Amino acid sequence: MSGIYLHIPFCKQACSYCDFYFVTRTSEREHFVQRLVEDIKSYSDTRFARETVETIYFGGGTPSLLEPAQLEQIMGALYDVFDINAREITLEMNPDDVSAQFLADLKSLGISRASMGVQSFEPELLEFMHRAHSSEEALQCLELLSASEFNSFTVDLIYGNPGQSVEQLERDVKKLLQFDPPHISAYSLTIEPRTRLGKQVELGRIAPPEDDKVAEHFDIINRMFSNQGIERYEVSNYSLPGKEAVHNSHYWEHKNYLGLGPGAHSFWWADTAERWENEQDLRKYLRDKDHPDREELSLKQLAEERLMMGLRTRKGVGKEELSEEYDYILSSRQLDYLKNREEEGKVEVDKRINLTDEGIKITDAIILDLVTLH
Ligand code: SF4
Repeated sequence: MSGIYLHIPFCKQACSYCDFYFVTRTSEREHFVQRLVEDIKSYSDTRFARETVETIYFGGGTPSLLEPAQLEQIMGALYDVFDINAREITLEMNPDDVSAQFLADLKSLGISRASMGVQSFEPELLEFMHRAHSSEEALQCLELLSASEFNSFTVDLIYGNPGQSVEQLERDVKKLLQFDPPHISAYSLTIEPRTRLGKQVELGRIAPPEDDKVAEHFDIINRMFSNQGIERYEVSNYSLPGKEAVHNSHYWEHKNYLGLGPGAHSFWWADTAERWENEQDLRKYLRDKDHPDREELSLKQLAEERLMMGLRTRKGVGKEELSEEYDYILSSRQLDYLKNREEEGKVEVDKRINLTDEGIKITDAIILDLVTLH
């Protein structure tokens, strides 16, 4: 079973925090769609086309900047080339692109899950993030979604903005929860160096949010979501029971996926495990037909990745899985470390290793310690 990720690299404008690959030259959309269709077809009769595809994910960039007719061409090519038995087909969209007709068109194309990039309903925060949509559009897109045939959808929210008050956060969460979302991705704002926000922080114009403040926001989000039955199942992902994202969960479990489009990543583990990334260059993607070099991963690298990704999830990672599938036995130093963290209430260790709500706040530090102690 595998997944397909399609990177649609167009955005109306650059959000201040974003370091995904995108271009604002939207005039090249049609040329890109034709090239993507050609790219998909180049996989006919390859080993990648022999495995059944369970999930498809249109990410970006902004996939909702494509016309339904263009999405139809892409879907047609995918169904021609791959053996698709889809449990989930997700398309990311921005509030300012959505209309009732657009949602109905997506549904009739077989898109089963909408991923809405709301981020906030607060005008001041939307402006700070340099989002293209307004507060009204953020509400309206969720009204449209609720009235549509999409019963599976997810909404992105960003917290921990510099200067964001607890009241603003609570207002955002309350507004969002009115729409009974089955799934929410809530990200704490990350300051990436190559972004406008990163530059502002570097120049001292903006102070990054304090860790305590971010941790407080995290607790508020967890509590408010949990009161509505929406539980965290990964550092940034929350859902009602049974509504977890299938495509993303597969990434964390080392399932195979093929990434198409500029900047897309792929991972394929058959006899050997390989990972590769398409160059982040739309012009090159439109021009060249060659595929990037692949990096072969050792079992140790895979084990560390699995540990890293597994610990970010509520399910954690099984000790038996690590030893049987990755030949990775925890060292006595690692076991001692886990015991100490367990006494501090940050980790639970049984047949599986899980981080608690307290531990999840320092996920990266725990993972780094564990990996270096092997
Ligand atoms: S719309 Fe999404 S991909 Fe585009 S700049 Fe904003 S956050 Fe980045």
